[in-house]
Amino acid sequence: MRKIFEESGIILSQDQLDKFEIYREILLFYNDKFNITTITDKKEVYIKHFLDSALAKDFYVDNSSILEVGSGGGFPSIPLMIVRPDLKFTLLEATGKKCTFLKEALKEIGKTEVEVLNGRAEDFGKDKKYREKFDHSTARAVARLNTLCEYCMPFVKKGGSFIALKGNAEEEIKEAENAVKVLGGRYGEIKNYTLPFEEGKRTVIKIEKINNTPSLYPRGNGKERKSPL
Ligand code: SAM
Repeated sequence: MRKIFEESGIILSQDQLDKFEIYREILLFYNDKFNITTITDKKEVYIKHFLDSALAKDFYVDNSSILEVGSGGGFPSIPLMIVRPDLKFTLLEATGKKCTFLKEALKEIGKTEVEVLNGRAEDFGKDKKYREKFDHSTARAVARLNTLCEYCMPFVKKGGSFIALKGNAEEEIKEAENAVKVLGGRYGEIKNYTLPFEEGKRTVIKIEKINNTPSLYPRGNGKERKSPL
């Protein structure tokens, strides 16, 4: 599987490759019980989960702190931890059983210092302990970009950025222009990738935090999804 990463310019040590394999095994072991992913074929797991997550690796500043919203099975955070051991992650996930899995997976790859929070972005984003405390927030496959901005931007310090991992995102980028502005951001670098073996197009979007997020946001009570900014 080394080649899959190398073809995208990601060179891994044997130790990093071993960690990916340990992670894959525990993911499949828990998958029957916890319904974490529909992707189970080895090559597909490496491309659609591991490589897809790792492609964003250069968007995060050295030694930065990152809060991930909606970790699920740990994407993109766990592949990023393996590829970028300097990054300090906090994982936020609404479903309790997925948090149980995340803790087990982190133990297996030797990342017991990572904090796993069980709850919703709408609540933790209002908590002083977490609000505007991170260099970055990040998320993949949680909501459309306008909703996702309201979940993720409150966690980022002024001067930091929210990194969104998306599929083909042209329409969502336009749709989220107002949300980005209202929440204190502006669009930065937007990079398009193609996954190997025709597994699809991906976009990584950087949203820079140039102003504090007004205290009204996140609004809560499902408003982020029902009436996005
Ligand atoms: N990020 C993972 C991935 O790319 O495979 C998981 C994606 S899964 C489709 C979405 C996850 O986000 C679910 O595990 C769900 O429980 C979580 N989630 C959705 N809304 C959330 C919220 N407001 N706060 C925290 N977690 C949330």
